Parts: sequence; C-alpha cells; structure tokens
Amino acid sequence: MSTKENDKAYIAGTYNRFNAALSTGSGATYTDEDGKKYIDFGSGIGVTTFGACDSEWVAAVEQQLHTMGHVSNLYYSAPQAELARMICERAGMKKVFFGNSGAEANECAIKVARKYGNMSSGGKRNVIVTLKDSFHGRTVTTLAATGQDVFHKDFGPFTDGFRYVEANRFAEIEKALEPGDVCGVLMEMVQGEGGVNVMDRSYVKRVAQLCKEKDVLFMVDEVQTGNGRTGKLYSYMHYGVKPDVFTTAKGLAGGLPMGACVLGEKAENVLAAGDHGSTFGGNPICAAAAINVLSRIDDKLLEEVEKKSDFILREMVGTPGMKTIGGKGLLIGIQTEKPAGEIAAACLEDGLMVLTAHHNKVRLLPPLNISYADLKAGLAILKKHMA
Ligand code: PLP
Repeated sequence: MSTKENDKAYIAGTYNRFNAALSTGSGATYTDEDGKKYIDFGSGIGVTTFGACDSEWVAAVEQQLHTMGHVSNLYYSAPQAELARMICERAGMKKVFFGNSGAEANECAIKVARKYGNMSSGGKRNVIVTLKDSFHGRTVTTLAATGQDVFHKDFGPFTDGFRYVEANRFAEIEKALEPGDVCGVLMEMVQGEGGVNVMDRSYVKRVAQLCKEKDVLFMVDEVQTGNGRTGKLYSYMHYGVKPDVFTTAKGLAGGLPMGACVLGEKAENVLAAGDHGSTFGGNPICAAAAINVLSRIDDKLLEEVEKKSDFILREMVGTPGMKTIGGKGLLIGIQTEKPAGEIAAACLEDGLMVLTAHHNKVRLLPPLNISYADLKAGLAILKKHMA
C-alpha cells in the first residue's frame, strides 16, 4: 500500500491533509515520495526554526542521543537545567516547567493561575480571561481557554472558569475583571491560528498594568510567536511589558516536541512538589535541541527576521487578489479574495507549502534562516495563485 493509502486506512481522520507525502527535508526545501520539491513557508507550523535537518541542530541532537537519551524527572539532568537557565536569563524570568507541547505549557499556566488565585483569595478567584479568536490548544481545558465557539462543541462538558473578551478593546477586559473573581489573563500578542491578529501596543500595556493593579497574573501564550518568530526572542518584548507567566513550544526545540511554562517573580513559587509533572517533559534530547536553537537566536538573526519580513511586505505590495497583509516578523497573514484554502492547495501543486488561518488568510511561517532566493521564488508562486 502507498503511504497515502496506509494513512487513510489506519490513521484517525483528524487531519485534513494536503495532497503530498513528504519524505525528506533540507533547509527550506522538502521532497515528496515522487521526487517533487517544495519550498517551505510553513516550518511544520512554526517548528523548524532553522529549517529541516539543519546540520548544527542534528549534531547537537545526535551528541545527546549518544550521551543520555532519557532520564526521569526524579533525577537532575544537565541539558534541562542549562536550558531553563538560558530561558530565564534571556527573558528575565525565574523558573521553568517543561512539558511536551503548547497545550501542555498552557495547561501548566492555567494551573499556576488557578492556584495563585485560590491561594491569594481563599478560593474566591479562579476565572481566567482569554480573547476571542485565540487558540491555546486541543486538550479539554485548553479548548475551553480558546475563545472560538467552533471549538466548544462535541467534547463537553468543558472545564469551567473561562471568560472571553474581544481583543484590543480595553473596556471589555476591564469589565471582565470587575467581579473580582479573575486570577489570570492569557493572551497571544499575535493570534496565529485565529487570523494573524496583532495586538495594539497601548492595549497590551494597559492590560499588563490592569493585571498588576488587580493582582491578576498577566500570562502570554508564546507557543507560536516565541523563539524569534516575530523578530524578538518572545513577542511580548515588542510591547515594553513583562508577563508574570509565559508559555512557549513549537520552535523552541526546532523540530522535537517540547513546551515550556515560564514563571516570573509573582508565580515562581506557586507550584510545589507533586503539584504538576510530566514523564517526558524536559527530556535531555529535546533540551539539547532547544539549547542549540536558543543559543543561535541572537540579535543578528532577529535583525534578519525583521529584514525578511520587510522584504515579504515589499514584494507583496499591490498583488492582485490581496485584500490585506499583516503580522510581525516571519508570522505573516494575507487576507485574500479567493478562498485561502484553494490558494494553499494550488501553491502546493506548484511547489510551495503555505498555511492558512481564520478570516480567510494565507499564513506564512518560513524557517527563520530561509534564503532570500527561496523567499523570492516562493512569493512568485504565491502571487501567481492569488490573482
Ligand atoms: N497556543 C498557540 C498560540 C498555538 O498556536 C498552538 C498550536 O497551534 C497551541 C497553543 C497548541 O500547541 P500544541 O499543538 O503544541 O499543543
């Protein structure tokens, strides 16, 4: 049986897959089983920070594979401890909990906020405010946190205690905090799945200040926006604010599963022994991969991300079939006249992998080190199919 036939017969039908069976990858190029090549503008949905099979990343992973592949969290291990130090020092945060995905990182943040609220109010504050059009994961609780009705069916009852407000409307969040039952606010600075919607600077600053005044944890979901994606190490760094908690995953380990819930001063001691855990969280191989990724996200690379972002915006100016273009760094959303899904399928046929997002957008998340030649060639294909 072919890969596609095998998949259709034996894989649970949760994915609406594109018509390509990919077999190898190198940098920003993937090759399918028939030898056809594709330029990658998706990075495995923001995961392969330095492209596919990046040689430095492969070497770091391989070295750790030969050293110690797995150890339980009942013991100390150097890669995990070193990675946590790097994240805390660069983000000005205090402690890290490692899991294996974005959803798990957010689950941890939700637990931290609930315990913080319960401890500080004798059990009276446990509501978490999130934004409409957000996306926080696919577990039952992170689906509940996700502010999109489309996710709130079929799998109920969902976890209680989430309140949704419209993004960029300060009066709404102010009102949502009024009852005095809120322990945390969780938001993306750029909503990825929800349509590449960018938060306003003044809104974010006012929300952070409001949270401070009300002793509510200000929590930022950096699962998609973190690890250099938007041109800063973490996207909140564009806004002149510091979260009490942030979560990240996707590009963190550059192609291996890893999530992190990062805690600032207010939250660093909320979780105690036995409160939370994960068998694989902080696994040495994933941690070694993440150390390699993080150590290469320096000012020079971040500047390049900004330059490539400007390059894409300039190249796209005046493209027929384009309604809007926006985003931050190499997380770009293009609202199109034609259905975005049709454009993505046509691009694939023509050798370009792109993603979509809500509000009929084509979403671009190329590897951070993609070449200008690949960008130019990919954009030419995209423009052709947008018209
Ligand atoms: N949060 C955001 C902002 C995301 O974009 C995603 C995934 O797309 C998640 C959380 C969930 O991450 P994961 O699929 O790794 O559980």
